[in-house]
Amino acid sequence: MADFIPYDDRDGWIWLDGKFVPWRDAKIHVLTHGLHYGACVFEGERAYEGEVFRGTEHSKRLHKSAELVGYKIPVPVADLDRIKLELMQKNGFPDCYVRAFAWRGSEMMGVSAQQATIRTCVAVWQWGNYFADKMKGIRVTMSDWKRPSPETIPCHAKAAGLYMICTMSKHKAEAEGYADALMLDYRGYVAELTGANVFLVRDGAIHTPTPDCFLNGITRQTVIQLAKARGYEVIERHITPDELPSFSECFITGTAAEVTPVAEMAGHTYKPGEISANLMGDYEKLVRRKLVLDKVA
Ligand code: PMP
Repeated sequence: MADFIPYDDRDGWIWLDGKFVPWRDAKIHVLTHGLHYGACVFEGERAYEGEVFRGTEHSKRLHKSAELVGYKIPVPVADLDRIKLELMQKNGFPDCYVRAFAWRGSEMMGVSAQQATIRTCVAVWQWGNYFADKMKGIRVTMSDWKRPSPETIPCHAKAAGLYMICTMSKHKAEAEGYADALMLDYRGYVAELTGANVFLVRDGAIHTPTPDCFLNGITRQTVIQLAKARGYEVIERHITPDELPSFSECFITGTAAEVTPVAEMAGHTYKPGEISANLMGDYEKLVRRKLVLDKVA
């Protein structure tokens, strides 16, 4: 659970449009296009012992997301990488969560905002485990909402508007005592959780949905590499919800969630087992540079 120090009332520094500003002064006007029309793009990253894990990949994804929703971020990838590190040092956070984001500013306030400037910001804060007591496994319910079709929205962008149904799903899940919700896609296939990708294990093989209408998470891609390096078979395919009872283990992956086993999903129970534990351990070692990917046993 995150702490409850309000995010607008903390000590420290935030990087905003080219300057490091005192945390409480990193403000924008209420009439900001990005707040009203959903096309803010953002990254969630984690730094471990002073280094952002896959930092450049995240900076590139931020640029790609902006391109997908129709604008260009004025801060090059290499500058974003440097700013993240400087900001971590300035705030004294070697281990932290990193949020880089961009949005259309206040010059225009209508659906059209061709002249609005693109604003860019990076903030870092300390954020512990996304889910408590990971090996116990989280309980996940089924969302009422589905991931939209690529014809409906640029579904590979990490854009704020796509998260509206994630927050709605997560709030309903939490109100019912669950940690999170599984979302199916527009065709009814198993897609992802509200902020993480999903993996299922059967007969020693790892199955994961093909990311053709949702985020192909950087953690997901890393865990697939880790699994293959261990010699596990990884099968990317469309998975239907009626297959869910046939799997023995389930785990989820994401920058915030890292690798977290699942004990229950959509009414089916799973045993947080050896494959989940091994990959959770490998990921933990990898991000702290205690394991090199091409040298995994
Ligand atoms: N899906 C969604 C909807 C997410 O918000 C996230 C977290 N960014 C992921 C998947 C996992 O992505 P990553 O591993 O790159 O953090």
